[in-house]
Amino acid sequence: MELDAEDTLKHCRQCFSLPDGIVYLDGNSLGALPCAVPARIARSVEEEWGQGLIRSWNTAGWIDLPREVAGKIAWLIGAAPDCVAVTDSTSVNLFKVLAAALSLRPGRASFLSERDNFPTDLYIAEGLNRLLGGDRRLALAGSPEEIADRIDADTAVLMLTHVNYRTGRMHDLAALTRRAHEAGALVVWDLAHSAGAVELQIEAAGVDFAVGCGYKYLNGGPGAPAFLYAARRHLKHAAQPLSGWFSHREPFAFTPGYAPAEDIARFQTGTPPVLALAALDGALDAWAGVTISEARRKSVALTGMFIEVVEALCDGHGLELVTPRQADLRGSQVSFAVRQDGFAIMQALIERGVIGDYRAPDIIRFGFAPLYNRFLDAVLAAETLAAVLSEGIWRHPRFRRRARVT
Ligand SMILES: *Cc1c(COP(=O)(O)O)cnc(C)c1O
Repeated sequence: MELDAEDTLKHCRQCFSLPDGIVYLDGNSLGALPCAVPARIARSVEEEWGQGLIRSWNTAGWIDLPREVAGKIAWLIGAAPDCVAVTDSTSVNLFKVLAAALSLRPGRASFLSERDNFPTDLYIAEGLNRLLGGDRRLALAGSPEEIADRIDADTAVLMLTHVNYRTGRMHDLAALTRRAHEAGALVVWDLAHSAGAVELQIEAAGVDFAVGCGYKYLNGGPGAPAFLYAARRHLKHAAQPLSGWFSHREPFAFTPGYAPAEDIARFQTGTPPVLALAALDGALDAWAGVTISEARRKSVALTGMFIEVVEALCDGHGLELVTPRQADLRGSQVSFAVRQDGFAIMQALIERGVIGDYRAPDIIRFGFAPLYNRFLDAVLAAETLAAVLSEGIWRHPRFRRRARVT
């Protein structure tokens, strides 16, 4: 396609090992395998672990790996490298920063989020509240427009996901951060569907804390370590409750008393997962030489084109676009609500080689990863969707069997 020929990022696709004949539009859920990763993991296993044994903590730089990987993520989110930790999972990191934020606003009793946030974020907030005695209030805005007005003098923390996992709608991070700060609240942003997909300047926006995912647009592999950001002004004061030895000022002094590190290490917990970090480290090299603004430009073009082609080809099949048409309100995915049987429709698409996913109750979702998706993928996916809908093949019972992961 002409658009692919003109794509300034077209060379990046070669950095990924994608199966032939598959249109992969689920990189927002599990990023594709970067070609550099298998050899990187093999080296860490065979040489560093196998031969170097415990010496590799120093000789192979294992101990510095979290910091190195943090440096490769920081620029993608507009943060200083020494304010980013790569550790644990997004859920666990959220627990830590949410607790830290609450500890900085002791006089305030509520945290504010939105009903349509990714469930783990709400579950973590509920769990933290229970642990703290249950006397905080988790306020949930019913729509994105409602959020700003719900921030009040009792709000300790505004906790939001920047790009909605279901609709792909993107919040105005800077404006909501400003609004929260004006009311004396802190902000925690979940960047799971943003990092590696949209432009972010979280430090310039004054964000207090952020978390995000290593296995979505960062391509670190299933269950990759997640990242966490804490503003420099909070590094010495914020208390995080998972005070394991790697958050200690001197982990290898083995003293019985706890004294938190005064840098970003304070947000680590235990021993870094070296093999998983090695995979993420290798994966992030696919971003070498890429600017996030050109990735974003391509992402907007891909999603915009996909919307156009689907609407042209699938007219009359009851698809309803739930992703904003307006590019600056949209992350890097396109979602449609379907009248019925979204799960079966997606299964039929997958059988025909187009991998997206389904989110209950009625959403079919297509993620576009600017490093490896082509404009051709958008066209092929739209054509296949049109064929599946008009032939009605999704009605076959084999598309109704549900596995544990949807
Ligand atoms: C994917 C995602 C997560 C995942 O959290 P894990 O702890 O890695 O399972 C969290 N929050 C949001 C908004 C997500 O999209």
